[in-house]
Amino acid sequence: MGITVDTYSMQETVEHIRQAVEGQFQIRVVTANPEMIYASERNKRLNRLINSADIVTADGIGVVWAAKRLGTPGLERVTGIDLVQAMFPIAHVGQWRIFFLGGKPGVAEQAANRVALKNPGITWEAMNGYFSAEEEPGVLDKIRHFQPDVLLVGLGAPHQEYWITKHPGLASVSIGVGGSFDALAGLVVRAPKRVQELHVEWLYRLWKEPWRWKRQTVLPRFVLKIFWQSFRSRR
Ligand code: UDP
Repeated sequence: MGITVDTYSMQETVEHIRQAVEGQFQIRVVTANPEMIYASERNKRLNRLINSADIVTADGIGVVWAAKRLGTPGLERVTGIDLVQAMFPIAHVGQWRIFFLGGKPGVAEQAANRVALKNPGITWEAMNGYFSAEEEPGVLDKIRHFQPDVLLVGLGAPHQEYWITKHPGLASVSIGVGGSFDALAGLVVRAPKRVQELHVEWLYRLWKEPWRWKRQTVLPRFVLKIFWQSFRSRR
């Protein structure tokens, strides 16, 4: 579908992030889920934006499956929430500065607080994701003033990806993390480990948040596209 996904494992992705923070160079990370990849086929801007990221991870079992079907087996699932959770202990050791931007008022603070309780080496600042165009300069000032090593943007995909590219240079590492703050704050409970291992977390999410069904109708369409593509390439 025109998207290149990196084959980095979770550990390798975190290592790239660590190198960017320590070397003080700037990278942008996109965790690409099937919805985004599917939408990018018709949306050239989104396509460019994903492909121009420094790291594109396979966010979800659908992407891992698609890669296998198209000839790249063994990809590791690197979701936004899992990635930040793997990164926090490294951030703690390195005493990084992390800005949490996104979510309803109070959620990013609650998420950051909980993260910092376990990882006290982290210095953080937070801001909710519901600001107007008039308020945006104030948000940018707050981020610049804080000088984060890592900027986590949880405004929902693909809005957060547009936002990050529109405002480059705010941090060494910028990552779009979707609804991760809701999970980090404990407001959304993730599927039990066993369900995650069975690769049906999406089904659990649909059960818990049934209003998402409309978005998830993309999944069967994504699967059909991949089947069609692998069938054509075999012929
Ligand atoms: N959100 C936000 N500002 C907005 C719209 C959404 O901060 O203008 C937040 C919302 O509160 C939620 C996240 O963005 O925390 C989107 O979560 P969702 O699970 O829908 O996104 P996904 O992980 O699927 O990208």
